[in-house]
Formats: sequence, structure tokens, C-alpha cells
Amino acid sequence: PGCGSMNPPISRQDFLLDTIVTVTLYDTDSQDLLNGCMDICRELDALLSPTKEGSDVYRINRGGGKPVEVDPRTAQLIQKSLEVSQWTDGAFDITIAPLVELWDFKAETPRVPTQSQIDEVLPLVDYRGVQVEGSTVTLANPEMSIDLGGIAKGYIADQMREYLRENGCKSAVLDLGGNIYALGRRTDGNDWTIGMRSPFDTSSQLGTLAVHDRSVVTSGPYERYFEVDGKRYHHILDPSTGYPVENGLASVTILSDDSVMGDALSTACFVLGISDGTQLIQNLDQIDALFITDEEEVVTVGQAVFHKNS
Ligand code: ADP
Ligand code: MG
Ligand code: MG
Repeated sequence: PGCGSMNPPISRQDFLLDTIVTVTLYDTDSQDLLNGCMDICRELDALLSPTKEGSDVYRINRGGGKPVEVDPRTAQLIQKSLEVSQWTDGAFDITIAPLVELWDFKAETPRVPTQSQIDEVLPLVDYRGVQVEGSTVTLANPEMSIDLGGIAKGYIADQMREYLRENGCKSAVLDLGGNIYALGRRTDGNDWTIGMRSPFDTSSQLGTLAVHDRSVVTSGPYERYFEVDGKRYHHILDPSTGYPVENGLASVTILSDDSVMGDALSTACFVLGISDGTQLIQNLDQIDALFITDEEEVVTVGQAVFHKNS
């Protein structure tokens, strides 16, 4: 494969993980590497998807409360999810699945669940009911189920990044439906410039972030939502109430070395809100954040260098 800044970048885009996955490699002309990235995506989706029959998550959710043997990677990711649940006192919780199903944001005609429907499934949402021992996962209650939608894309981005590094690629951008990993630097040696979409008008750019070897992940209600009677219901749920989070935040962006943390923490901080979210990020090493409020105020935490468009 040719190396050096003279070659044009190569890119591939596939619809995977229920979103558009784009891989762009800047310092190689190897189509095999592009294909290898997409293969990793497909392979991990086959383990982590809640709906693909026979996936690890599918089997865990139908395990009837009995131990289910899974791929070590699945067990590792669930373990990480539980860690973030502990840090956030359950604001991030993969046992949110029964509520996700109830709200069914992907339905053709989504509807707002009744309070009694929510009350019925709310007791099933509790990360402390998930046991991981080696590569065996057990749910405390046969009615419980898990959904890795708030963390899986970050994990998959990290796996693709590792694969690229192992194969000598030092300049690439991975975009998993807005979950970005910027590998290395641009071939001219400069930082990558990552555009931040406005949460208020997703066709416009609010500003840019300059990064290298960094994950940039944003969680916001504009990603997936429906409207009933002029009210917007979005897909990030508060595990304590069962309703979409409403706390004055428009989006949270996390900058981190590992995308798995960025993905989980962006969802978590969106649930926690600006005050608890800021405190959490300040207590973590090497992780920066950017909160955007409904009033279009931009608050950076840590080292994040944000250039607002004029
Ligand atoms: P996106 O899916 O757009 O990347 P997130 O990473 O914020 O957005 O993940 C949102 C998804 O995570 C939801 O679609 C749902 O599957 C799941 N989820 C919703 N609320 C929570 C929560 N409080 N904790 C963990 N996962 C959640
Ligand atoms: Mg997330
Ligand atoms: Mg995400």
C-alpha cells in the first residue's frame, strides 16, 4: 500500500448498526483495510444487536434469568456499562431495554405510553440485576432485558481503530452515525477539524473542535424522536422516571481517548444534566466535555477547545 501524503484518501460508506458508517483512510490505498473495518462492524453488530436473532444480547434477553454464555467481548462491554452505571448512580443503565421497547421510537406510528405501562416496567430497570462472571451473563429477573444502544457504537469504533493501528494506518476518520474517532493526525501533520452540528438546526454547523487521536461523541435528542400533539419525545430516557430526559440540555459531546467511554458518558451526562455531568467529567482523567443548553449556551469542561462559527 502506498504511504505518504500524495495519495488521495479512500473512503467507504455502509448502512450498518442502524446508521450510516463511514470510514476514510488518508495514508493508505488499501481497500482491504476499508473492508476489514466494515467486517469488524458487521461482526460486532451480530453479537451486540438487540434485534438480530441469535446475537449475544438477543440470547441474554431470552435467557429466562439463567446464565448465558457470550463472546468475551460482549461480556467486557457489559462490564464497562455497569462501571459507568456505578459512576452515575444509574443515570446510564443498559437495563433500560423494557422502556426502550415500550417507547418504541422506531415504530411507524410511535405512541406515548401510559403512566401505568411505565410503572409496570420501571422496576425492571436496575443495572444491579446484571451479573457478569467471566463470559457468563445472568439477569436477576427473567423479565429484565438489556440494550447496548448507548455504548455499542463507541466500542465498535475502538475495535476498528485498533485494527487500523495494527495494520499500520496512522491517519483515518471513523464516523459511526456521528460517533467519531479521529485516528492520528491529518497527513499534513495538523489536527483534525471536527465540525459540530447545531442541535437546533442539524443542517448547520455550530463550530469546530481540533483534535488528534481522539474520540468525539455527541448525544442529543435530535438523533431520534417523534412528536405527538406538538410535543417532542426523544430516545434518551431517564431510568428513574421512565420518560425522555428534559433538563435544559440540547446536547452533550464527550472527547476521550476511548470511544466506548465517550459513547457511554455522552448518554450518561445527557441524563445527569449540566451540573452533575460537569462534576462527573471533572473527576475523570483525560476526558473533556462540551455541553450545549437549550438557550444555545456552550459550556466546555476540561481541555476541549471549541471554535464557535462566527
Ligand atoms: P445514539 O443512539 O444516537 O448514538 P446515545 O449513544 O445517546 O445516542 O444512545 C441512546 C440509546 O441508548 C437509546 O436509543 C437507547 O437504546 C439507549 N438508552 C436510552 N436511555 C438510556 C440510558 N439512560 N442509559 C443507557 N442507555 C440508554
Ligand atoms: Mg451513547
Ligand atoms: Mg451514541
